[in-house]
Amino acid sequence: MQCLTISVVSRFMVNKFSDLTEKSRVSEATELTETRYWHALEDARVQCDLCPRYCKLREGQRGLCFVRANIGNRIVLTTYGRSSGFCVDPVEKKPLNHFLPGTPVLSFGTAGCNLACKFCQNWDISKSREMDTLMDRASPEMIARAAESNGCRSVAYTYNDPVIFHEYAIDVARACRERGIKSVAVTAGYVAEAPRREFYSYMDAANVDLKAFSDAFYYKLTGAHLKPVLETLVYLRQETDVWLELTTLVIPGRNDSEEELDAMTRWVVQELGAEVPMHFTAFHPDWKMPDVPPTPAATLHRAREIAINNGVRYAYTGNIHDEVGGSTWCHHCGERIIGRDGYVITDWNLTDDGHCRRCGTRCAGVFDGPPGDWGARRRPVRLQDFAA
Ligand code: SF4
Repeated sequence: MQCLTISVVSRFMVNKFSDLTEKSRVSEATELTETRYWHALEDARVQCDLCPRYCKLREGQRGLCFVRANIGNRIVLTTYGRSSGFCVDPVEKKPLNHFLPGTPVLSFGTAGCNLACKFCQNWDISKSREMDTLMDRASPEMIARAAESNGCRSVAYTYNDPVIFHEYAIDVARACRERGIKSVAVTAGYVAEAPRREFYSYMDAANVDLKAFSDAFYYKLTGAHLKPVLETLVYLRQETDVWLELTTLVIPGRNDSEEELDAMTRWVVQELGAEVPMHFTAFHPDWKMPDVPPTPAATLHRAREIAINNGVRYAYTGNIHDEVGGSTWCHHCGERIIGRDGYVITDWNLTDDGHCRRCGTRCAGVFDGPPGDWGARRRPVRLQDFAA
């Protein structure tokens, strides 16, 4: 695929927040941050090696993600320390149903995306070109402080794909780790091998979109390919301790056939294991697909049923009201071990270390004591309140 190329303003001041201590100085910083995953080509262009698009850029051009650019014959990140907003959410909203259930997570994103999904549900952020007006400014340390002050157990890199703000996400994760706060990636998993290894060494959990199970879907509707995503999933399961859950946005007529859902869920069980939770969520008409109808609830129930029949132990429906499909059931005795109504936990039948109270079978996931009681609240956070 051809890279989208847009001229950028040619100012260059590599300046991270380590030397910014006053609110007044934050607005003065222009951060074009040095990056490591690129190499020079013989024809005077520079290739970005961060994601499988491998954009080849001339001086002054941006990659398809819009936030990485060739300035001074090297690839720089243009959005370090700039966010599209902060909010405390239930961790179930990411969605993660088996990672510290009921706890609050501080969510943020930046702008841009390395996929071009025609069905994007966050297009105002992922397609944003209004960098200067859109962004709050936030250092890694400010984010860690805000998470701690708000009682969050984790920070989520979400709204747009953290792969494209790799350096910023890693610095935030480092600052959080120093305070005992975990990091959660919400991502399409479209990342090259070396940066993938570095990125996930700082993550504790990930919800990865498995958008479909055909390369034709990926190519036509996202401009990407399926294979690198599957490689990321296998890597996460086989070579890391990162807790993994999967999300598939089920789109009528595009990825909802019995055959595709059957093949996808069989692959998940065979290659990733029965313990990886799968979330089948409802599409709402948006972005470049306003004419496709919303996903019927029956389609999501059917997807969940296919997954369970193929051996997936924890399959969920999402974006609809469904207390059965939103709850966690013991795969051994059938007990409802975590009851949910939307994002609210209504029933808890697990021990503090995640075993079924009825039969003693372990529930896969990260459990640490009783569930949190954050509920469905959504609390916007002003990061400037946490400047040093
Ligand atoms: S991260 Fe991906 S989309 Fe962005 S410039 Fe690099 S290769 Fe291109």
